[in-house]
Amino acid sequence: DSKPKSLLYLDGVSVSFDGFRALNSLSFVVEPGELRAIIGPNGAGKTTMMDIITGKTRPDSGTVLFEEKVDLTKRDEADIAQLGIGRKFQKPTVFESHTVWDNLELALNRKRGVFSTLFYRLSGEDRDRIEEILGTIRLTHRRDELAANLSHGQKQWLEIGMLLAQEPKLLLVDEPVAGMTDAETAETAILLREIAKSRSVVVVEHDMGFIRDLGVKVTCLAEGSVLAEGSIDFVSNDPKVIENYLGR
Ligand code: ADP
Repeated sequence: DSKPKSLLYLDGVSVSFDGFRALNSLSFVVEPGELRAIIGPNGAGKTTMMDIITGKTRPDSGTVLFEEKVDLTKRDEADIAQLGIGRKFQKPTVFESHTVWDNLELALNRKRGVFSTLFYRLSGEDRDRIEEILGTIRLTHRRDELAANLSHGQKQWLEIGMLLAQEPKLLLVDEPVAGMTDAETAETAILLREIAKSRSVVVVEHDMGFIRDLGVKVTCLAEGSVLAEGSIDFVSNDPKVIENYLGR
């Protein structure tokens, strides 16, 4: 059996709000194991696109398929999360009064439908997985720290770690480096490349230096459809991209 060609497949996706076309026949494909960046001006439809993938918004028309067969337009948000699509919003929502370790433990238990850590003993395998995630998110040395005491960037990484505990096949990440220091931003590019070795990741970002660091295929949206797609050099030299986004 051959590997599937697409993990996520959007074709001709349109949606209007009160007569305003937020997405206009959008097509977008993510391959298994691909790390992809999305750019575009405010109002381009980036958030709406994520809302459609995660089942928060239903398209008026078009195709949205996960793993080539699952019609996401027929599933609700909880279903889609269960299928293996994780979403990280811009603002971190970690549990500030819990330690880094406990945040990860809560996330791991949540995957099993267990909502309290009090009566649930972690298996050795679970502990190993949390250790592994701590390493990935650069927080091994801060495992016993309250999340409230982390830097803004570390909180973003912790939330990515909490999503990893759910073992998503596709991770959607909204503006991860906004508000980060330069060092954290550079580290985030490395971290996301590592994470994408075992899953697909789609990153929405405005920070062009960061996107260049990621070194991946870029999709530029404008007015609800794809304006340009390709390498960062190709996309950033496209006259339409310069006019609608970079030159503003
Ligand atoms: P981006 O994330 O690229 O900035 P959005 O997807 O947030 O773009 O928005 C695209 C357009 O759709 C914007 O003009 C926005 O005002 C509009 N829009 C998005 N969601 C809604 C909604 N629920 N109701 C009405 N208009 C919306």
